[in-house]
Amino acid sequence: MSVPTMNVTSNSIIPVFEKQLLVRAAQDWRPFSYSDWEQLEIEISYSQTLICIEGSEHTLVVIKEEPRHTGFELVGLRDQLQTLDSYHTSLAGKALQYAFWRDNHRFCGNCGSPTVSHATEIALECPNCEAIYYPRLNPCVMVLITRGDHCLLAHNAAFREGMYSAIAGYIEPGEAIEQTLHREVIEEVNLKVKNIQYFGSQPWPFPSQLMIAYTAEYGSGEIQVDGVEITDAQWFHYSELPKTPSIESISGKLIRAFVEKFETHSQH
Ligand SMILES: [Zn+2]
Repeated sequence: MSVPTMNVTSNSIIPVFEKQLLVRAAQDWRPFSYSDWEQLEIEISYSQTLICIEGSEHTLVVIKEEPRHTGFELVGLRDQLQTLDSYHTSLAGKALQYAFWRDNHRFCGNCGSPTVSHATEIALECPNCEAIYYPRLNPCVMVLITRGDHCLLAHNAAFREGMYSAIAGYIEPGEAIEQTLHREVIEEVNLKVKNIQYFGSQPWPFPSQLMIAYTAEYGSGEIQVDGVEITDAQWFHYSELPKTPSIESISGKLIRAFVEKFETHSQH
């Protein structure tokens, strides 16, 4: 089998096939060394260099066909979240986000020609009309509304049964983050909030969100859900919370931080 030449600038190879990572069966995900990867002789569609924030270099390789090698399997990153450390979660997420973006920009949205890698930037360009496509992120605002020792959690129709989380929604064109926050809170539970405070952010590669999380205090109004996107929302005491997202997600961290504030307080 012929293996297409690949621009390898690192000894850390991250093979991806359709939003999944190639791993050794029953092991946690790790990048392959170049020699281990080469031995598999897998045909690829393309490769791309990834540079991490601390400077390390990796090579994303997108596999052409589903590999059926004994001792290897494809896994989703979600299934690895509870076991991977934050460095490997972020590295795998980065690779998956780039692969998702490239797979969805194979053709120019302007003239329909196939796109190619940009010569100098992390971008795809159209050789016909010169349009340039940069990696796409979908920023999403999340807010945990608090009212004394209670917080507001909502059940989204897409959640598993019994699961509740903070309010969240996508930033729309023309909106500042704070405007999105107020709009989403009104749309989803019809409340007004005040004293907004930044909590933190997290890339969420399912497939390409950037979660930007806040806390806010209840201002005024009565909870009113739309019954379509949000089917229930309630004030919950910090010691009597329903099922909430795991601590690997920023929603889980946001809720946990609220609970800990009171738990610490009540211990003294
Ligand atoms: Zn074009």
